[in-house]
Amino acid sequence: MATVQTLIREEVLALSAYQVPDARGLVKLDAMENPYPLPAALAEELGHLLARAPVNRYPDADAKALKAAIRRALPVPGDCDILLGNGSDEIIQLLALAVAKPGAVLASVEPTFVMFRMIATFTGLRHVACSLRSDFTLDVEAVLALLERERPALLFLATPNNPTGNAFARADIERIARAVPGLLVIDEAYYAFGDTSHLDLAGLAPNVLVMRTFSKLGLAGLRLGFLVGPKHWLEQVDKLRLPYNVNVLTQRCATRLLESYDQLAAQAEAIRVERGELERELAEVRGVEVFASEANFLLFRIAGAAAVFDGLVARGVLIKNVSRAHSLLADCLRVTVGTRAENTRFLAALRETVAV
Ligand SMILES: *Cc1c(COP(=O)(O)O)cnc(C)c1O
Repeated sequence: MATVQTLIREEVLALSAYQVPDARGLVKLDAMENPYPLPAALAEELGHLLARAPVNRYPDADAKALKAAIRRALPVPGDCDILLGNGSDEIIQLLALAVAKPGAVLASVEPTFVMFRMIATFTGLRHVACSLRSDFTLDVEAVLALLERERPALLFLATPNNPTGNAFARADIERIARAVPGLLVIDEAYYAFGDTSHLDLAGLAPNVLVMRTFSKLGLAGLRLGFLVGPKHWLEQVDKLRLPYNVNVLTQRCATRLLESYDQLAAQAEAIRVERGELERELAEVRGVEVFASEANFLLFRIAGAAAVFDGLVARGVLIKNVSRAHSLLADCLRVTVGTRAENTRFLAALRETVAV
């Protein structure tokens, strides 16, 4: 009889599951969610729309209406295709599966989004990474050396980056795009909170794909991400997509919400304003160093970060302790920008914690 130890792949046994802490009863500022609910009139309309959705039928496997709505709302280059995922996490997995030949490499820079490494492991790719500089900017020479040495099939760059919050320089990304031996995937999960878009690059460079998600725009519960790039790449990745990966409720909701994209963008703008306030106030707390952010969260350093994190939880506020994720993140915590009231509670809890 097989046991867990003999049957399950070694690299799976060695993984720890992605941790989602229980946030019940806490101010939840750990997961980069948009703190605002949908505008009431829109929510009402969605209710009626969903009541008529044919849940007895399989959804449109190509999600044609939704893709058309994405093209109307966003500047997707005309000669590029769109591939939809059940969150952008699924898209990372599809890309990895598509290139997972024996010995193939998935590369990233670190610290960054943990799913790049985790998905490489699931899919049997070798993960390699080079470090960012200590100010979290790209060390382009190090990236170019890694490309030369490892010849990765995929290079993921998240900009703005998670958990550091900074965006990488466009000129650096273009230099890297010219040098990649495989595909460069630019992950723009936080584009709505910054000032740069790389969607155009997907049309200009032959081996650049751009990935976005609706999760950080207020729709994390819908699970929808998309990838933009040349048709000859996307049609191969599409073969691995399970045919009904985006359900009918998500398709209908997102198609309607994209018609009101300005309302989602207005919430993102409100979050940017709150980020500015939070950054100023956070910087004034004793012992805190805040890093500049173009995302909907702030990374900050404080001595004894793990104890500070626990002190916040004890006072009803959940953020993220990233201090053990990478040596550049020693004593760093990450807080998602919430509503003014949530940010005020966080700041009060932090001031109390450091005063103890
Ligand atoms: C949150 C996040 C994603 C994943 O978003 P989904 O919810 O799966 O669409 C992808 N990349 C980065 C960098 C993120 O922070």
